[in-house]
Amino acid sequence: MKSKKILIVPKHIITVNERDEIYYDKAIEISDGIITSFIDKDKIEYGKYDGEIYNVPDYTLIPGFIQTHVHLCQTLFRGLADDLELLDWLQKRIFPYEMAHNPESLRVSAQLGIHELQTSGTTTILDMGTINHQEVVFESLIEARMRAFSGKCMVDENELMPEFKETTEESLRTSYELAKKYHNTENGKIKYAFAPRFVLSCSGELLRKTYEMLSDFPGALYHSHTSENKDEVEEVRRRYNMENVEYFDSLGVLSENTVLAHGIHVSESERKTLKKTGTRIAHCPSANLKLGSGIANIPEYLKEGVSVSLGADGPPCNNNLSMFKEMRLAALIQKPIHGSTSMDALTVFRLATIEGAKALHIDNYTGSIEPGKKADLVLLDLNKTNQSLLDNEENLYSDIVYSAGKENVKDVMIEGEWVVRNGRSLIYDENKLVEKGREELKKLLERANVK
Ligand SMILES: [Zn+2]
Repeated sequence: MKSKKILIVPKHIITVNERDEIYYDKAIEISDGIITSFIDKDKIEYGKYDGEIYNVPDYTLIPGFIQTHVHLCQTLFRGLADDLELLDWLQKRIFPYEMAHNPESLRVSAQLGIHELQTSGTTTILDMGTINHQEVVFESLIEARMRAFSGKCMVDENELMPEFKETTEESLRTSYELAKKYHNTENGKIKYAFAPRFVLSCSGELLRKTYEMLSDFPGALYHSHTSENKDEVEEVRRRYNMENVEYFDSLGVLSENTVLAHGIHVSESERKTLKKTGTRIAHCPSANLKLGSGIANIPEYLKEGVSVSLGADGPPCNNNLSMFKEMRLAALIQKPIHGSTSMDALTVFRLATIEGAKALHIDNYTGSIEPGKKADLVLLDLNKTNQSLLDNEENLYSDIVYSAGKENVKDVMIEGEWVVRNGRSLIYDENKLVEKGREELKKLLERANVK
């Protein structure tokens, strides 16, 4: 079979390789979804090239963003749970809405989320699913050619909403079946992430036995939340007489295959435990501010060598899925505390790309632009009035982290296939998606009966 070749000729290539090289004089060649080589621009013979040439002399090529904590099932609830604390937010809104999902509402919720993620430059996600109909989320990810880890949310204890849970056995069994069906499918683009929601909604048995299932699925992850909110941490203490991370550790579920969102209210000794076990922290600055949860000490995590990457969390606690907003906030919120030199633009840009790939153990094939890696790529138009006017390397990271937004994203490719061209999705018709979303939301609100 003849291979499908694409040559992209941009203005710059921001590689995010080990030396953080930026190329001004090179194009990249992609063959069957893999970056095969860099080619000097002045050696390209345009008339003779035997593949597609994408000549974009004004655009900047970057690796696709990697978000290590999102909830696609919640996209439909954007704007419906504002100005609440975490536990109220869950009890009064999010749990009742998630429980009211049927396959149709869940499908459009996932599609709306994926559309927003892709058109703002995200090519890989770690998603926490919901209890019911999780196969719909996988179908939506596959249809959109997304690179993703996802898994049904596991809940076997629920004081906030007792009817929104399963038995331990049911939760374990259905998770195992979904992992068997979807893990490592679509040429490895789709992987399973077991998702016990958080300590307050899971029995110790569920947390432990879920972790044991990982050994049957190499490359799968264990995905949960920790130490997001002071009341949550207090309740964990009351129940188990331990701090949140300590409790996870006592169950033996922390390792480099574990990704925990937030990690805000942690002690120094818990931070050391995260480091010792190799546990990954998914930092979600917008959600942490909006829910009033606090500010995770990211500079300290980085100093100690704990893996940190970024995620938008769910649309009802953000209310946005753009990595640009997370990068900007991840930098800004630390500066009043740690000084303006902390969390510089390059550090943050790496968290949004290669560090996300490392967190998920997929950095051998994505997260940076290097020959041999898969072509998960984004082209940005930085010739806009929201950008600096100097053309030097320092300004590129600053432009992207502090100034750019979704409006600068032109084209997005996942494993060599375009999913966004000229700012528009090739997967979805945005107007139809919004219309369908409105219809399904109306019906879901009737089912949920939330006052
Ligand atoms: Zn979350």
